[in-house]
Amino acid sequence: MQISHLGIHDSVDAVFPPEQLREALFSIDPNVEVVGDDPDELAGCDAVVTFAHRDGLLDSGLEWVHSIQAGYDRFPLAEFEDAGIILTNSTGIHGTSVGESALGMMLSLSRRLHAFSCQQTDREWNRPDWDEPFTLQHEPLCVVGLGTLGQGIAKRADAIGMHVTGVRRSAESMPHVRKVYANDDLHQAISEARFVALATPLTDATVGLMGTAEFEAMREDAYFINVARGKCADEKALISALEDGEIAGAALDVFEEEPLPEDSSLWGMDDVVVTPHAAAAEIDYYNHIAELVRENVQHIDADEELTNRVV
Ligand code: NAD
Repeated sequence: MQISHLGIHDSVDAVFPPEQLREALFSIDPNVEVVGDDPDELAGCDAVVTFAHRDGLLDSGLEWVHSIQAGYDRFPLAEFEDAGIILTNSTGIHGTSVGESALGMMLSLSRRLHAFSCQQTDREWNRPDWDEPFTLQHEPLCVVGLGTLGQGIAKRADAIGMHVTGVRRSAESMPHVRKVYANDDLHQAISEARFVALATPLTDATVGLMGTAEFEAMREDAYFINVARGKCADEKALISALEDGEIAGAALDVFEEEPLPEDSSLWGMDDVVVTPHAAAAEIDYYNHIAELVRENVQHIDADEELTNRVV
């Protein structure tokens, strides 16, 4: 395989300006151009870096497509396979950003920062009830899915003295995690936690992983954090659990439908923090992507296996 023309699909604009990535890739060998959906533009490329899937990517004679997201649930993998197009993703780059975002969400809920922020909009000075704020130190956190995101969250939570446990397919131990549970023990793992943070990919096995039974298994003073994908949790069951006081609150970066519809009751709930799928957003995002793309161009030149290959 030879990559002499690399396209940056303009859909990356959802995360950073395409030109930023083009400039960051200026020094690599292939010609790097920003492209749109025009079939002629795509046909002029050997490889494309993209945010979104487009059917046009499948019939443009491309050798390789790189997604700037970690999740590849929106790409038709079988069709890539049939078309003989390599698909790579961007897992491995979001541990710090999402780890810090999840920590921020937990701090916001425990220190009541989300409530103060709402009050400030109305110029109101209300101290919290004496028993509302708490500290995260010694609080149990259960991280479900211990990949890049999960480890990024666990490391930061451990650093501020939380008692971190986790759930992974094998119950093998991990740094920063005091106890690792196997998937079969999910209910036991989450039943002990003050915070449950979901960090799995969206797959057939994880659709609705957190549903009615799981929210029932959680403590009534527990908070649910979702930085994975909206569909990994059953949103209807989550709303019921919040309304019925099965759990105390939630911080959600991802939703079954995005943007979160205006009429969703999640917007108006006191102890729910809503963020616009921005947990991984950071000014250096394009640089992390440039590093991955550079690395894979080198692998291609050396006839080596690509990093983060999905198909
Ligand atoms: P990763 O591949 O590094 O880690 C995923 C981990 O989940 C792996 O360790 C895997 O073994 C584990 N896993 C898979 N199925 C599981 C199951 N059924 N039970 C328990 N663990 C399971 O991926 P990552 O970079 O950590 O990203 C994870 C997901 O988070 C992505 O697929 C994406 O959907 C989402 N994500 C969201 C944002 C955001 O902005 N909110 C950013 C990056 C990634």
